[in-house]
Amino acid sequence: MRGWWQRLRRRSEQRALERRAIPEEIWQLTLARYPFLARRDAADLAELRRLSSLFLDSKEFSGAHGLQVSDDMAVAIAAQACLPVLRLGLRPYDGFVGIVVHPDEVQVRREFVDDDGVVHEYDDVLAGEAMEGGPVMLSWSDVSAAGESADWGYNVVVHEFAHVLDMGDGLADGIPPLSSNAERSRWEAVLMADYEAFCERVDAGEDTVLDPYGAESPEEFFAVASEAFFVAPHDLCAEMPALYELLAGYYRQDPAEAD
Ligand SMILES: [Zn+2]
Repeated sequence: MRGWWQRLRRRSEQRALERRAIPEEIWQLTLARYPFLARRDAADLAELRRLSSLFLDSKEFSGAHGLQVSDDMAVAIAAQACLPVLRLGLRPYDGFVGIVVHPDEVQVRREFVDDDGVVHEYDDVLAGEAMEGGPVMLSWSDVSAAGESADWGYNVVVHEFAHVLDMGDGLADGIPPLSSNAERSRWEAVLMADYEAFCERVDAGEDTVLDPYGAESPEEFFAVASEAFFVAPHDLCAEMPALYELLAGYYRQDPAEAD
């Protein structure tokens, strides 16, 4: 039975790869735009291109406010989204289909109720958003600038897809699904120790390799740490070696080594 099922799966995957083959010209353009992808070796890039085709086949892109999502835009998003799951495969992304691309950052109205029960409203500006069950929202101006913003460890696509991975166990808590409870406890200990130390440094006004936004909550800390891990791995490894090690174990990648 298993053999039969695997053959069928392989055949449907083969068809998807043919249907969504990424033209050489667009692939080269993508690598030129994003040096943190181009730095990977030939085997990683071949796998990234393969996963990107399957990603394009299984997701639906739509543009907001009249934005047309061209093939090269879709590939730019697919390649960056597939980088974190290079060794994990696409299954963690099975829970959603839609990707909504906005031309720019999006202004949203937020509400919160304080301890006295008073409702406060405020405006929030989003470069991206991930919700359980989807869709994932991205600002194209942030996606397209990811080559330059890698210098300060910023990457909106990795950030939002790290949230998707985090929510894989139904909880947005900075801890993605792990193989055992012992592994989960170990993770929590390392993540929380680094998170608390990070919050103190942010409060003290220190400059760090991670976006200070990570001090919002453990889940934002995991997302910004994942950004730096993939686009500025040497900086993260030098500044927060325990966190780097933790992420390398989870993602089964060592981007600082690959560089
Ligand atoms: Zn976030």
